[in-house]
Amino acid sequence: MDLDSDPIEAPVDPITGRRRRGLLIVLSSPSGAGKSTISRMLLAADNEVTMSISATTRPKRPGEVDDVDYHFVGPEHFDRMIADGEFVEWAPVFDYRYGTPKAPVKAALKAGRDILFDIDWQGTQQLHAAMGEDLVRIFILPPSMEELERRLRSRGTDSEEVIAFRMQRAASEISHWAEYDYVLINHQTEHCLAQVRAIVAAERLKRQRQVGLVAFTRDLVAGQR
Ligand code: 5GP
Repeated sequence: MDLDSDPIEAPVDPITGRRRRGLLIVLSSPSGAGKSTISRMLLAADNEVTMSISATTRPKRPGEVDDVDYHFVGPEHFDRMIADGEFVEWAPVFDYRYGTPKAPVKAALKAGRDILFDIDWQGTQQLHAAMGEDLVRIFILPPSMEELERRLRSRGTDSEEVIAFRMQRAASEISHWAEYDYVLINHQTEHCLAQVRAIVAAERLKRQRQVGLVAFTRDLVAGQR
């Protein structure tokens, strides 16, 4: 994909005076493992991270807001978005389709901002193929299947039938854990969030994400710094 990821508009870090490339952070897990809560907390705690808002053909759940939680669209609209090449990736999940719009990803990368994706393993594979090293993949596991079911029920938003189906799907989603760079077990939300933040902090410092290091070190050894 021809994403222009040159972060020419990236802000300069006020302490180091350096710029860096934006980071694409994927959080995947079976539904109910705590991924949405962790995402919300990360966004609140770190203002360099923006959430990617997916489009979906799934109906809105109570409490969800259009263009905040998802862009809720009809199947024809979704077809049109595919045909117009508007998605970085899209995939069927349960009975519906979900896709990541390309334009906000391009804009955020260009601005040197990090983007958080709450997408499944299918979308992660596609993003990995398209974005390579810009992508950091984190998989969140529940501590047990009992706990997963308890968390799904406590949301109070899905019917018994949907919960049974999600539990059935959880095992197959979990089977993709080895396709991720990091695997976390969410025993406790705050602890899991701290681990996600540690990963993000370390990934931002990776050599290949720091712009202008060659010139910096050249000037450094030449005594021009
Ligand atoms: P939910 O319906 O519970 O909001 O999401 C169901 C599943 O769809 C979750 O596993 C979520 O990660 C995944 N999902 C949400 N948005 C996208 C997307 O844009 N692309 C892909 N591939 N999966 C998505």
